[in-house]
Amino acid sequence: MGEYILRCVSGGEVLPEHYTLSCSKHPGLLRTEYSARQLTVRPELPGIFRYIDWLPVHGVLPTESRSVTFQSEELCRELGLPNLWITFTGYYPERKCLVPTGSFKELEALPTTVRLSENGGGTLVVASAGNTGRAFAEMAARFETPVVIVVPEDATKNLWTVAEPKDPEKIKLVAVRGDYTDAIGVANKITEKVGFLPEGGAQNVARRDGMGTVMLDAAVTIGRMPDHYFQAIGSGTGGISAWEAAMRLWEDGRFGSSVPKLHLAQNYPFVPMVNAWKEKRSQVLETDMPNAAEAIRQVSAHVLTNREPPYGIPGGMFEAMMYCGGDMYAVKNEEAKDAGRLFADAECGIDLDPAAAVATAALISAVESGAIDRSSTITLNITGGGYARVREDFSLTQVPVAFTVNADEVPEL
Ligand SMILES: *Cc1c(COP(=O)(O)O)cnc(C)c1O
Repeated sequence: MGEYILRCVSGGEVLPEHYTLSCSKHPGLLRTEYSARQLTVRPELPGIFRYIDWLPVHGVLPTESRSVTFQSEELCRELGLPNLWITFTGYYPERKCLVPTGSFKELEALPTTVRLSENGGGTLVVASAGNTGRAFAEMAARFETPVVIVVPEDATKNLWTVAEPKDPEKIKLVAVRGDYTDAIGVANKITEKVGFLPEGGAQNVARRDGMGTVMLDAAVTIGRMPDHYFQAIGSGTGGISAWEAAMRLWEDGRFGSSVPKLHLAQNYPFVPMVNAWKEKRSQVLETDMPNAAEAIRQVSAHVLTNREPPYGIPGGMFEAMMYCGGDMYAVKNEEAKDAGRLFADAECGIDLDPAAAVATAALISAVESGAIDRSSTITLNITGGGYARVREDFSLTQVPVAFTVNADEVPEL
């Protein structure tokens, strides 16, 4: 189970695994190759680990967290899409989706925590706009894996755990006076210290293959790969993951002979990848994000505001789009809000993460413009939601801020 090698997508060489994030000779991503060419789902394993065949881990952790794919009769009717499937990762007990931190970042955190412990361990350093940090805080609270979480100052309120930390000392929260990009900068400087490891973001195969389980869950539940896949993107890692999972499903042979088209959305006015893709450019340029700081302040979904997405690198977002086809969408706050309300009305009042509302709005606009056929099979990746229900069902523990620093400072950890 989980037997794999790491291959450099640029040079093709196989790299040794010690939580390896990159190839020293080539730019671009590493990709896992699993010895299991066909996927065996293992429902006897906890949560996401039912997909262990295609996760870069050998062991598991006790968890209930995984995506759940279902059809919402009301949304299907409301949108006129008979073959719409929701793949939900968040907290929605009525649909048996029990991800306590509420977003698909937990799909990243679980396999990453195992991958790190199987390859030497260390203190992970995670830069986050909020959701990734909360997912790793939960890991630290439950499994006592040490983590340094670096977030923009105004995101610290979103850093809580559902489990009471067994050892609070294991979680160090650093607040940065600045935005998400500033937090990434501070995190990078911390990882220069001995014993501190970068989580890796898009470079971390455990993150990508963990997020790829969304596509696996969709295909396994529907019985084949969807024709269209909708997701909101910030770094685009989830989009790359969907592509890689689809290639594995294609090779498996039982889930259809074509990969889904990717329909990826950002939150207007901060839409660098949308702007690059509209011109079919393979690189994101500064001109794709005019007045970036101000644009970032205006969006409702801050997890979608990565200024240095892995777009143009080998194995990155642009290649995924070229391979799969599809489109990118710039979604306004108002459209996202309306879409979120539509979802809540159809599904037990579940509040969507603002990013998931952006994805839902993109689906609505693609359907209304006639870009996709109403009868096609669609997966809408609801990347987060159910926070209000989490607050009702659990008493949360706020993660205290250990350090507050300026963007050019490094905390004395
Ligand atoms: C991080 C995040 C996204 C964007 O995912 P990327 O892989 O960074 O593009 C979308 N929705 C939610 C809820 C997220 O937390």
